[in-house]
Amino acid sequence: MRASGWNLAHCFRSFTMQYYSTLKKAEPVNFKQATITGQAPDKGLYFPEKVPMFDSKLLSDWKNIGKNELAFRIMKPYVNGEIPEEMLQDIVAETIDFDFPLVPITDRIWSLELFHGPTLAFKDVGARFMSRCLGYFNKGNQKKVTVLVATSGDTGGAVANGFENVEGIEVIILYPEGKVSPVQELQLTTCGNNITALKVNGNFDDCQAMVKQAFMDKDLNEHYQLTSANSINVARWLPQQLYYCFALQQWGFDEAPVISVPSGNFGNICAGMLAWKSGLKVDHFIAACNANDVVPRFLLGDDYEPRKAVATLSNAMDVGDPSNFVRIMELFVQDKNALQQMISSQSVCDETTLATIKQVFQRNGYLLDPHGAVGYKALEDYLQMHPGKKGILLETAHPVKFPDVVKQATGQEVPIPENVKPLFEKTPKSIGMDASFEALQKWLLNR
Ligand SMILES: *Cc1c(COP(=O)(O)O)cnc(C)c1O
Repeated sequence: MRASGWNLAHCFRSFTMQYYSTLKKAEPVNFKQATITGQAPDKGLYFPEKVPMFDSKLLSDWKNIGKNELAFRIMKPYVNGEIPEEMLQDIVAETIDFDFPLVPITDRIWSLELFHGPTLAFKDVGARFMSRCLGYFNKGNQKKVTVLVATSGDTGGAVANGFENVEGIEVIILYPEGKVSPVQELQLTTCGNNITALKVNGNFDDCQAMVKQAFMDKDLNEHYQLTSANSINVARWLPQQLYYCFALQQWGFDEAPVISVPSGNFGNICAGMLAWKSGLKVDHFIAACNANDVVPRFLLGDDYEPRKAVATLSNAMDVGDPSNFVRIMELFVQDKNALQQMISSQSVCDETTLATIKQVFQRNGYLLDPHGAVGYKALEDYLQMHPGKKGILLETAHPVKFPDVVKQATGQEVPIPENVKPLFEKTPKSIGMDASFEALQKWLLNR
């Protein structure tokens, strides 16, 4: 019968997680397709059709659930049965196989340290989850998948590390020459095997523009099955909400925290806001930015006006046209007033970043990296205006990734952690390239 057939389909559909394009000119897809394609064909970003609510049992029993189980339960509705449960459990456990400690700095500010993964920055979680999902989906496939990714510093290392030796997948990383730190450069140029690093004579926005154009190029798409590993990919973006859940698991107060997130492409903070939408108790979000201040200006009342990125000491946030901001607007159904209730944004200049690293080190004995320092300063200012509140800053990278900045600020050498030392014995390998799409296209078609 026609009518009931329709009802059944309709009913079933409401239980199936689909992802629609934020530009709404492409068909909705499932998790697998969204992971394989990266960006929607209409150049929009995939967004979950329905934000699942964390069940109340999960929230009330929050502190007694192990982090693996918690992470599995949070990711499950998004993956929607497209990866078998035991497999997803393994993937999640491998993804978060390190610590996420919440460390006090003052009596009102805590640091959630997200740098205990293999490449010492928070991007390890997204990169590891995505590489394992993509590896699973592409198993047995004849055609190799080529992950094309632009990095301002940390993405490249995390993606290289996450995808190293994953069968059926090769990774090509574009990074801006002279604009990444020595540890970052080693992390993305020493993997070899299925990982290739292209050193682009330009800035991060140039790299990102080259990658975006490659995804739309007919010739390239005939030769390659291309996908992105930037935070536009749902499999990289979605697991970042776990940080916020781990923070709340360790939070010792009844009052919800203010959470400050050093932001560039706005993937991380947007994932946090997704968790909040699902029921996580967060008082307020702060998008802490460096001199690249498109979002701070927008939230203060200006038009949304992307600009060319300017280079700063917190280079992983040197983004002039943040990709994920459209997802935040989508989460708030384009309602700027509602958005402003829940999120503030502040731009912190390099001089203040240095002063903050110095001050927090001298006063509290805590060594921040430049990204964390931007987050700290924005949080400190916010708390000063809101005396009853307490907050958490997401410390997104280990200070050893930015030793020159830390030394400039504090006079201290950052001791190199044991797990980083082997990097310095490896031989870096990269291919130089002009900052033009034509150069990338020519190289890809002739290799
Ligand atoms: C990538 C990165 C950021 C910015 O994160 P987005 O999700 O792009 O906003 C901040 N800090 C560090 C150390 C990073 O690597």
